[in-house]
Amino acid sequence: PRSGFCNSNSIFYSKREFTPHPPNPNLDVTTFISSHAHHGDIAFLDASTGRHLTFSDVWLAVDSVASSLSDMGVRKGDVILLLSPNSIFFPVVSLAVMSLGAVISTTNPINTAREIAKQIADSKPIIAFTTRQLVPKLAESSLRIVILDEHQSIPAVRNARIVATLEEMLKKQPSGDGRVRDLVNQDDTATLLYSSGTTGMSKGVVTSHRSLIAMVQIRLVRSRGNEGEHRFLCTVPMFHVYGLAGFALALLASGTTVVILPKYDMHDMLSAIEKYRITSIPVVPPILAALVNSADRILSKYDLSSLQLVSNGGAPTSKEVIEKFMERYPAVTILQAYGLTESTAVGAYTNSLEESKRHGTVGLLSPGMEAKIVNPETQDALPVNRTGELWMRGLPVMKGYFRNAEATASTLDSEGWLKTGDLCYIDDDGFIFVVDRLKELIKYKGYQVPPAELEALLATHPEISDAAVVPIPDKEVGQYPMAYVVKTAGSNLSEGAVMDFVTAQVAPYKRIRRVAFVASIPKSATGKTLRKNLMQLATTSKL
Ligand code: AMP
Repeated sequence: PRSGFCNSNSIFYSKREFTPHPPNPNLDVTTFISSHAHHGDIAFLDASTGRHLTFSDVWLAVDSVASSLSDMGVRKGDVILLLSPNSIFFPVVSLAVMSLGAVISTTNPINTAREIAKQIADSKPIIAFTTRQLVPKLAESSLRIVILDEHQSIPAVRNARIVATLEEMLKKQPSGDGRVRDLVNQDDTATLLYSSGTTGMSKGVVTSHRSLIAMVQIRLVRSRGNEGEHRFLCTVPMFHVYGLAGFALALLASGTTVVILPKYDMHDMLSAIEKYRITSIPVVPPILAALVNSADRILSKYDLSSLQLVSNGGAPTSKEVIEKFMERYPAVTILQAYGLTESTAVGAYTNSLEESKRHGTVGLLSPGMEAKIVNPETQDALPVNRTGELWMRGLPVMKGYFRNAEATASTLDSEGWLKTGDLCYIDDDGFIFVVDRLKELIKYKGYQVPPAELEALLATHPEISDAAVVPIPDKEVGQYPMAYVVKTAGSNLSEGAVMDFVTAQVAPYKRIRRVAFVASIPKSATGKTLRKNLMQLATTSKL
């Protein structure tokens, strides 16, 4: 029995109303989104080229690409890799793949060939969609490659197996039901996005059609059906759940025009707001901080009068930045959102200035979700205003980590609770506050930097006998990774050499930006690195 939003077992329920979609077991997410028919208006517009797709264009394109993939032998359960900056075709390819019951897997286009190869070895895609420029990153993969760029001949890159272009695929007459279409079940996997979760290496997050459908429905509840009146600018990456779920899928269902930036750039973002009379943008905290810090220059140079909503999420934001933003941009409503790849970006949000004014909150629990605040030592569920690990349960929660039963078992319990690794409390009115991160994960400008990955890389250096990587808080970027390193006896290794070693092998956002040499890494009795001790050390020893 529920009493308000929290029952006697300390389970919190959402205060927001939600009616789940009727459980038609064979509904796939592409069909679900296409059933929200919107016709002639612009669905996606590329801010760099002006090229656009109407809602009707999107569905014709989805059908053509799905038919082509079907002809290439793509079947239910096959994994397709999408390695691309944001583009108007990112949603098209994703929806086409999912309509066949195949699985779309994404990766950050600035990842190195080595990092991408690792993901390919894990997810085993059979085809990759990528741009001409990014082909070399797949050259060693032996994957069949489809080129996304328009008006391009097939590039000759040594070893790359380029088999088609998207342009050719789009010319294919949509065959409707002509293609081979396995029956898709809501339980089937739709996406495989990578996240390191609470500990260890990056892992494939297995998300079902059911979870994506629930996410879209929740977004529709949130917008109360009025997102069609908005014009969004997608500045966040579509390879990440924040961009894919929110912008490529949910806004398509709500009939909203989405203007797309190939990648985030402050000037491009502000120019696009002015040029396309954008009403709503998503941001991560470093962008919000930049908007505040350069407010004078920005407001004198750009006409941002169309802007009504800024939705902030992905990492913690200081109260100070939020208050300053409200002061500098009084006509703009700032909304907060909290979610994880493992919960299909769903978790909590604020939906009005009034709610956002409860400074520091990430909002009320999303519709249909349940939460517990759990004491990390005793596993007891805690009442309101007590801090513990946030656990969440609901349809958008992942099925588990791809072929990793151990990581799945330590993240999802037998009752379906997702352990978020975030330390939170819930106040008397049901608002969630994120206090700290219990998990190892470092977030640099909203991007995931798994310490375990950098530690494994450092361990391959012949002059390093042990290493630990911890987050250093930073006003501009959120957090950056610092390495504590134990040198082998007699080594003359320098801090710079350690950083260069890592820089040569990882994407720029994962670079180690500070190094300290130590005699040993503090460990618990069970051999676990005591990261908190090192973080403490980093704040007390000014290097
Ligand atoms: P990802 O899977 O990359 O979306 O990362 C999820 C993690 O980002 C969460 O578990 C949090 O640690 C952090 N996060 C996401 N949104 C917020 C937010 N609004 N405030 C604080 N931390 C957040």
